[in-house]
Amino acid sequence: MAQQSITLIGGGLVGALLAQQLARRGFAVDVYEKRPDPRRAGFIGGRSINLALAERGLQALRTAGLAADVLQRAVMMRGRMVHTRDGRSGLQRYGVDDSEVIWSVSRAALNMLLLDAAETSGVRFHFGQSLVAADFDARRIRLADEQGKERSIDAGVLIGADGAGSALRAAMHAYAPLGERIEPLGHAYKELEIPPAGTLPASLLGESGGHDQFALEPHALHIWPRGGYMCIALPNTEGSFTVTLFLPGQGPHPSFATLPDTAAAQAFFREDFPDLLPLIPDFAQDYDSHPVGTLSTLYLDRWHLDGRALLIGDAAHAIVPFHGQGMNCGFEDTVVLAALLAESPEDTAEVFAEFQRIRQPNANAIAAMALENYIEMRDSVADPHYLAKRELGAL
Ligand code: FAD
Repeated sequence: MAQQSITLIGGGLVGALLAQQLARRGFAVDVYEKRPDPRRAGFIGGRSINLALAERGLQALRTAGLAADVLQRAVMMRGRMVHTRDGRSGLQRYGVDDSEVIWSVSRAALNMLLLDAAETSGVRFHFGQSLVAADFDARRIRLADEQGKERSIDAGVLIGADGAGSALRAAMHAYAPLGERIEPLGHAYKELEIPPAGTLPASLLGESGGHDQFALEPHALHIWPRGGYMCIALPNTEGSFTVTLFLPGQGPHPSFATLPDTAAAQAFFREDFPDLLPLIPDFAQDYDSHPVGTLSTLYLDRWHLDGRALLIGDAAHAIVPFHGQGMNCGFEDTVVLAALLAESPEDTAEVFAEFQRIRQPNANAIAAMALENYIEMRDSVADPHYLAKRELGAL
């Protein structure tokens, strides 16, 4: 049984799933996570509230023995429900039956489930510990606690699952340039919420009176495509939907720059999303208090520093969210890496090179598809030519 010691930075979605798989294979795994333990302190989000889990990610969860547990906490989405400007809607199914669907999961619930699973497998988590520097020659890292107090510790083989703004990536890049390229999308996002149907006036829910506890069809990924921008909504198990508005950050109307306050934003929704606005009773509060998130694609020439350090998940290949594949791709990474490390635990330089060789073409392809899909989602899905082609099975 392997005894290699692994020091993982970041206990988010990818870090926690990787840690669980490595621990199950006999590695001694320590995870240093910047945030407090979400199971005790409450989940501190920052990225999307819920995510689409697709077959790619689900297969990784099956390998880890966690798929059934996760699906119990997920809502099935059979296709895209497209809402046109004149208030009509129609479902474009992902496949002919329910064998081809995706799932909406809460980021917080999923992260906590993965932390529990990793801990059960023997992973040691160190919460409230932020990586601030790494000395790759001495094999030591410097960590700051939540009060900013720093300490240095010996590190095992280092793996960075610390997300798009990875501190380990910055340290590796300073030591030996990684060929980093970050391409901002120029579009940004803000999240809003449709509450469960029971909290909305019956007059808003149409003739059906809603869909059980949901204000809209629950088994769909809802899209309000409007050309250069769009809203989407994903269902949550308790009956609410998380709505995300995607819009240019700057530039002529509409952009986040031209919607500086809730009055301007409400007027814009009244014009462009008239059927959606009434379903968001706390619009003003949501719009005011939720941050505008930026979106970029990250490309690296090198994901590793010989056998001493490796990047995985968003730390290696952050993408824009329009294919709903960032987490799914990161989950797939974990399966490949855990299998390679289990085969050759002592030869990490070879394993890391092989991991990059296998995964980088996939990550690049998914990054390109995600960028293309933004155009398709915000524009083509409501285009009559697109719909006609789809009818004919050309798409
Ligand atoms: P993260 O989730 O960012 O986790 C990184 C972890 O590292 C965090 O816990 C953080 O606290 C910790 N950390 C950061 N810095 C340090 C440090 N210095 N020291 C210690 N710890 C640190 N993907 C999908 O597959 N489907 C979707 O539907 C989807 N929707 C999305 C919607 C939006 C709006 C966005 C922004 C992203 C979406 N994604 C989606 C992408 C998905 O969120 C990411 O791909 C995924 O979170 C990557 O996981 P990760 O663990 O690599 O990074």
